[in-house]
Amino acid sequence: MISSIDDLDLIKEKQVFFFDLDGTIYLGNKLFDNVLELIELLKRRNNTKFFFLSNNSSKSTNDYLNKLNGYNLNISIDNIILSQHPVIYFLKKEGYKRIFLMGTTSLKKEFENEGFELSEKEPEILVLAFDQELTYDRLVKASKFLEKNIPYIATHLDDRCPTENGYIPDAGGFASLLYKTTERMPKVFGKPNKEMLLFKLQELDIPPKNAIMFGDRLYTDIKMGKNAGVTTCCVLSGETKIDMIKNSNDKPDLVIDGVWKLLDIL
Ligand SMILES: [Mg+2]
Repeated sequence: MISSIDDLDLIKEKQVFFFDLDGTIYLGNKLFDNVLELIELLKRRNNTKFFFLSNNSSKSTNDYLNKLNGYNLNISIDNIILSQHPVIYFLKKEGYKRIFLMGTTSLKKEFENEGFELSEKEPEILVLAFDQELTYDRLVKASKFLEKNIPYIATHLDDRCPTENGYIPDAGGFASLLYKTTERMPKVFGKPNKEMLLFKLQELDIPPKNAIMFGDRLYTDIKMGKNAGVTTCCVLSGETKIDMIKNSNDKPDLVIDGVWKLLDIL
């Protein structure tokens, strides 16, 4: 079931490498072996782009850059894709200016830096993110806007977020709560939705077949890659065990033990 070296040969032709983070690049707080060497190799490679992905929109891109460079990855802000990025791409493309953002202070700053006006009175659209500063007052305001049929989108809809101390409520939980009040659900952009990869490929003007997605979760990382039409590679260094692949509808194109294997191929 693990892909042979011959099967893995197609990775050599890829121009864009998308990587999930937890379970793929690191586990908890520990970077997997040879990840630093892999990143250096990708930086040196001609015509190659690489990106690290997370659905976690409670943090700004700068927060994530600091976190990742804390592992000595030495990457730039352009190497990071968070679920707010396809949302920002969409809002700009559709011409939205005034938004009601359910998000953290650092996310609000990011939206303001991108030129959006955060509006409490007459927003054109409601954006739901992983708002770790959510208050009852904000929920009431959101419900009022939703009842007036304002367009409604979300960065991602994970129900819960794993932490060292167990699960905490995430954006999907907030969406369920608002659904109970308003019977409305948002359009979603983060994993497993294809927008998370396609907006970047559109920006780069590179076709999906020239890209590959590495991740440890079948129902988010692999599903998203398949939705977007990119090659998918499941790593067994995180959540997925080989038996789970046999029983899943979201079968990856390739399976490897971990991203360190790429050093033998590229
Ligand atoms: Mg993962």
